[in-house]
Amino acid sequence: MLQLLACGRTDKGHFRPNNEDGLLLQPPLYAVADGMGGHRAGEVASRVALEALATHFPDPALAPRSLVEAVRYANQEVYLLSSKHSEWSGMGTTLTAALWDGEALHIAHVGDSRAYLLPREAPLRQVTRDHSVIWELVASGLVPPELARLHPQRHVLTRALGITPEVEIDVHAVPLSPGDRVLLCTDGLSEVISEGELEQALRRPKDPARQVELLVRWANLRGGPDNITALLLVAEVVQR
Ligand code: MG
Repeated sequence: MLQLLACGRTDKGHFRPNNEDGLLLQPPLYAVADGMGGHRAGEVASRVALEALATHFPDPALAPRSLVEAVRYANQEVYLLSSKHSEWSGMGTTLTAALWDGEALHIAHVGDSRAYLLPREAPLRQVTRDHSVIWELVASGLVPPELARLHPQRHVLTRALGITPEVEIDVHAVPLSPGDRVLLCTDGLSEVISEGELEQALRRPKDPARQVELLVRWANLRGGPDNITALLLVAEVVQR
């Protein structure tokens, strides 16, 4: 039987006055969120989305449908709150949520936070696709990927949670084998640490808590220009 070891950490970084990121670590449900909006509304949006997800706790036996329903519910909660309170009008959040059913990790995703898979014996790959203007241009072949990291519009999202009453949700199923690692993170990490560096760091046989701590510290050493969130899952065999 496979189980997931999990550890997460969120940090304000060095530049932003408050932390608008959030994470949820309630096995078998895991998520990261990166809120946006003025007057600290981003903080509200990410918190409300994660609370809604935890309230509407998806059933792993009914994944991925149950997970999509829970994310839809989270979208409505953020949207309703922003329609009722003018100071929170237009707030939204990214949400990358993962639900473990014992064999596969189901991922539901909106925005530009990311899920990376590092298989034990294959290169790191990004499972999710960023819902940003620049990554849509990359996907259509109009902009080469190496320029995307520097593009001034890379933070402009094409999809976020809580902006409209309904939202399109990407769904992925990732079967896991012993030793595989999945990293959920916000752009405060992926903007300053390259994929090659991420892979190098995650390959080292450290325990997840230490690894997550190192990733956050590393992002801060690169200036910590944004809030930083990292949640690491490691698949391992349980002896019965
Ligand atoms: Mg961010």
